[in-house]
Amino acid sequence: MKILVSNIGSTSLKYRLFDFSNGESAVLAKGGFERVTDYSTTIEEVLTQLRDGGHIRSADDLAAVGFKTIMAKDVSGCVEATDDVLEAMEFYSSVAPAHNPPYIAGIRQFREIMPGKPMVALFETAFYQHTSVAAQRYAVPQEWYDLGVRRWGFHGASHKYIAERSAELLGREDVAERARSLYVNGGRHPVDGPDLRVVSCHMGGSSSITGIRNGVAIGTSMGMSPQSGLPQNNRVGDLDSHALPFIMRKTGMSADEAQEVLCKQSGLQGVSGVSNDLRDIADAAATGNERAQLALELLTHQSRHWIGAFHLDLNGLDALVFTAGIGENRAPLRADICANLENLGIRLDADKNNNTRAVEAVISTDDSPVKVMIIPTNEELVVAREVKRFLDNR
Ligand code: AMP
Repeated sequence: MKILVSNIGSTSLKYRLFDFSNGESAVLAKGGFERVTDYSTTIEEVLTQLRDGGHIRSADDLAAVGFKTIMAKDVSGCVEATDDVLEAMEFYSSVAPAHNPPYIAGIRQFREIMPGKPMVALFETAFYQHTSVAAQRYAVPQEWYDLGVRRWGFHGASHKYIAERSAELLGREDVAERARSLYVNGGRHPVDGPDLRVVSCHMGGSSSITGIRNGVAIGTSMGMSPQSGLPQNNRVGDLDSHALPFIMRKTGMSADEAQEVLCKQSGLQGVSGVSNDLRDIADAAATGNERAQLALELLTHQSRHWIGAFHLDLNGLDALVFTAGIGENRAPLRADICANLENLGIRLDADKNNNTRAVEAVISTDDSPVKVMIIPTNEELVVAREVKRFLDNR
């Protein structure tokens, strides 16, 4: 069974082709296009690349196309991207402006080019279906909650991968099996049972931290929109809800203008005034740029805040995992986040931390009660697996 997974951005389209023929999953091909203006031409080019590489004879060889979609009204889990689902995504286009509109447009183009082919969406919110209502709820009136003003959580595919892989690497096959078998459409899932407590730090262009008990998410830093939680590359992260009307009244900005600032000129970019890339910010901080230094400290401070919250919720921790571009590569930030936490059982090994990047590794000392780990994430694999499960269960 061959499944194409496509990652669609407002000007980019990436793909990976998975083959599940031999029981295991194998990546047959991957590629991507930048500066995309027309998804339809790009999709044809993807198919040409797959044909030229000998991976498919035609689109007929694909069992389905899978998408890591973000959020939709009253829809989560892994579902076929029907007109109803695309409409439900449209409902939240203004909440996820960088994500929902490109996916809706891209999926429509895929459907036109491959009529009848299952287009399957795994929503980033799916991993959080089992969190408690208290963890989901903002203290707003019921009518607002019913419209979706609640903590949804994102990066679900990434954190689900970390839930599975951390258990495997810690030799907890019982929990790994449970995490793998957790069907994202499965309704509420009990988190009791064999105890494995993990905090997963997905830190990259956008960042979030999720608490995981026995393979199941118990809460996460991101809220209603992907703009929330930790400071993101150029998106604001958490902000007091009264700041927005205050700024609008004081400056005369419209809601759209203020939202644009929150989505594009805030986060690490806004604080540092240097760049939205942590490498540039770290370089500037090293040469004495105080705003750049502050941006690093802010990210560290917020990360510790969320790790602390889940450490308490989980009544301790077995593993603290770093993943994504910053988490996998930026040793000084990992060191800052883990500094002075010996009383919580977190003891980073300085040499291991400094000498490890973008590979699976334990970077805590041998006697550290909490294992600090780097695990490169694999979101596309999670999408492909869930799409396969969806097809198998149909
Ligand atoms: P991601 O969204 O996971 O692709 O992460 C992208 C971000 O990771 C970039 O904006 C960089 O700030 C950061 N990043 C990637 N590679 C490195 C590196 N070698 N050192 C520090 N930061 C990095």
